[in-house]
Amino acid sequence: MSAPIRPQPGILDIALYQGGQSALEGVAEPLKLSSNENPFGPSPAAVAAMGRALGESHRYPSTDHAGLRAAIAEVHGLDPDRIVCGVGSDEIIHFLCQAYVGPGLEVMHTEHGFAMYRISALAAGAVPVEVPERDRLVDVDAILERAGPQTRLVFIANPANPTATFLPMEELTRLAEGLPEECLLVLDGAYAEFVEGYDGGRALVEAREDVVMTRTFSKAYGLGGLRVGYGYAPRHVVDTLNRIRGPFNLSGVALAGAEAAMRDLDWVAECLRVNAEERARLVGGLRQLGIACDESFANFVLARFADEGEATAADAHLKAAGIIVRHPKGYGFPQALRITVGRPEDNSRVLDALATFKGAA
Ligand SMILES: *Cc1c(COP(=O)(O)O)cnc(C)c1O
Repeated sequence: MSAPIRPQPGILDIALYQGGQSALEGVAEPLKLSSNENPFGPSPAAVAAMGRALGESHRYPSTDHAGLRAAIAEVHGLDPDRIVCGVGSDEIIHFLCQAYVGPGLEVMHTEHGFAMYRISALAAGAVPVEVPERDRLVDVDAILERAGPQTRLVFIANPANPTATFLPMEELTRLAEGLPEECLLVLDGAYAEFVEGYDGGRALVEAREDVVMTRTFSKAYGLGGLRVGYGYAPRHVVDTLNRIRGPFNLSGVALAGAEAAMRDLDWVAECLRVNAEERARLVGGLRQLGIACDESFANFVLARFADEGEATAADAHLKAAGIIVRHPKGYGFPQALRITVGRPEDNSRVLDALATFKGAA
């Protein structure tokens, strides 16, 4: 017997992705606040469009996503030729790693950065490099200091997950200008909609040849289950990614749902309005209970407890109340809980449960 086939170097270093918990034993309908989903769900117009598209499921979908790209371009004032759509923004992250890195080359992300950056870097055989943050904020100087000729991709989620912090445009510009020549800066805008007046760094993408922005329908648009995201990039990058993209990567149902969701401006605006009000109420409520919490620029808050023990106990207390949140131990926050902003009544339940936990009720 010869030795069994082995995967490529790096693959077995990938830890299996841990998703947000979705079930609680003994609780029929738990309140799920663990995956930063839109608590109001998708736009009804998107649901109707998907229903219509189901009847066309015998047809292969569009390969160039022209309809969806046109909708995104019209709504956001973008150039449709610079848009490339993927199965969630995760797929765009994956394409970027597949196209631009390999053995000996580095993919940089920050200390508490999103798990997909490391997973996609290792899948491409590249070296993931983690750079420290400063007080839970991306540290531009630390990145610039560490970046070298092997660094080809730098992933920055802005707003960041799980910290919910935000780096202003001047800092992003300084980062883009200071990186080595042969390096792409990727601005992951999964939560960009939640920052009023922020366009995800679009102007930087248009002004330079080395900045890419990724966006998703999974968060503000309430379509995490549909799996649609996109990249906005210089043309040479779009051309490259389209060569490795599967021609039918998005289903007809996904394309129809995302296009209708993008065009339903009122639905997303109302969801964002409630989110902004409610996250401020959550942050204020947590602080009143003596639980540390930064201002949030996203649709979740990071509640910081005294230590891991207290966070674990608070997590258990919330679960006993039928509430599932995220204990981001794997992201370097054993002492914290990440809580997605829910509907007003959901957030009241969270604050009430934490009040009894703190003995302050
Ligand atoms: C949720 C999230 C995404 C979105 O991933 P999709 O594949 O588009 O669902 C991307 N980046 C970060 C930081 C996220 O938290």
